[in-house]
Amino acid sequence: MTAPVRFDGGTLHALCTRLYPLPRSLTGPGVDATLELLREHLAERAPGAPALERHALSSGTQIFDWRVPEQWTPRSAWIRGPDGIKRADFAAHSLHLVGYSEPVHARMSLEALQPHLHSLPDRPDWIPYRTSYYQRTWGFCLTDRERRSLPPGEYEVFIDADLGPGELAWGEILLPGETDSEILLWAHLCHPSLANDNLSGLSVATAVAAQWAGSRHRHTLRVVFAPATVGAIAWLASNGRARTNIAHALVLSNLGDAGGFHYKRSRDGDAELDRLFEHLFASGAGGEAPALEPFTPYGYDERQFNSPGIRIPAGCLTRTPHGRYPQYHTSGDDLSFISPGALADACELVWHALSALDGNRHYVNLAPFGEPQLGRRGLYDSLGGENERRENQLAMLWVLNQSDGSHSLLDIARRAEVPFERMRAVADSLLDAGLLQEESAPRRPTTTSSGAPTTGCDGSEVS
Ligand code: ZN
Repeated sequence: MTAPVRFDGGTLHALCTRLYPLPRSLTGPGVDATLELLREHLAERAPGAPALERHALSSGTQIFDWRVPEQWTPRSAWIRGPDGIKRADFAAHSLHLVGYSEPVHARMSLEALQPHLHSLPDRPDWIPYRTSYYQRTWGFCLTDRERRSLPPGEYEVFIDADLGPGELAWGEILLPGETDSEILLWAHLCHPSLANDNLSGLSVATAVAAQWAGSRHRHTLRVVFAPATVGAIAWLASNGRARTNIAHALVLSNLGDAGGFHYKRSRDGDAELDRLFEHLFASGAGGEAPALEPFTPYGYDERQFNSPGIRIPAGCLTRTPHGRYPQYHTSGDDLSFISPGALADACELVWHALSALDGNRHYVNLAPFGEPQLGRRGLYDSLGGENERRENQLAMLWVLNQSDGSHSLLDIARRAEVPFERMRAVADSLLDAGLLQEESAPRRPTTTSSGAPTTGCDGSEVS
């Protein structure tokens, strides 16, 4: 079996650290700065690979049932109290300004300002994350402790921002494989300084792309970094042809915290990717107590891919899912909340899953009349110690028995309860020995080999 690929957690966390202060939103300079940094990072990590490309649609463009929103360009924002102290300064923390706040420069009493302030009374030391994309307003977020200490009196409120026609942008890397069949990795890039719910997905997807670029694969890998919801809808609306090539999509988020892995199934619940994660978790690849979650039409962008008009089977991989940790959508989701080890393990799991998808094949046994003589071909002795040999023998017998062109290696691994990588390794040995041939057009499972009508035990014809 091939050695597992290791990822460097320090590099992953360092990338998150560089991305953290950039003031991301649905649109605007934070998105462009993020894409530029990811492009540079990929060029360093995978020289020679196709560059990350920026794509954009203009504000107002119709995208299915939506329109591309206006562009928000925040520059500076703060409130200044009667004591002359600037507070909720956007330059100090990008969460201080409500996303898509309209420009304001006014003086008002603390009472008049209060409806525009947001804090978390039950978590008094964290700044909440708030946006108002589709309703024009303005506001500031601050810790509840600071809010309660605001002196009464007159406040100067200043938001220097543009909100008007512009662009909605996303970044994309396409790493061509031997076929057009694509695996899509998707991560949102619209959250400002939030580490787990944003930067972890960006960094894991980037590291996996850099690794993928360094070797040959059957599948083409497409990695997209886009603003959530409207970004996914914009991408789907402007990639009608490309999206038909996507065989599997995996949305990545919340991968840096200390929680166990969660895989959320696709809409049908039984896509190849769903069965693969079921198998990987059952065979120990997801660490301690990984969990499979049913599909729900809420969450991240998997719900756009899984919509009835699109039907791209999309799963979502996280550690602790969104909304299930107290730091979620607050300044508590900072760089100390994500760890290098958690990020590296997440990369390894994604890599493992992508490698398995890429290596999943249907085979036909070329000596299907009874068992072929494995010993004569040296297949019994070639593989490792006694236990290892026994497990490989059994795996080989499973592959030979089930390879009638209708069962994939993943199907066989699941049925035999043998890790996919072992199945793949023994299938490679059987291929080398001339006992298997790849089936390019997998067959439907059959119950008889004669082609005669199947009869039930009472002699009636079962159709
Ligand atoms: Zn979020």
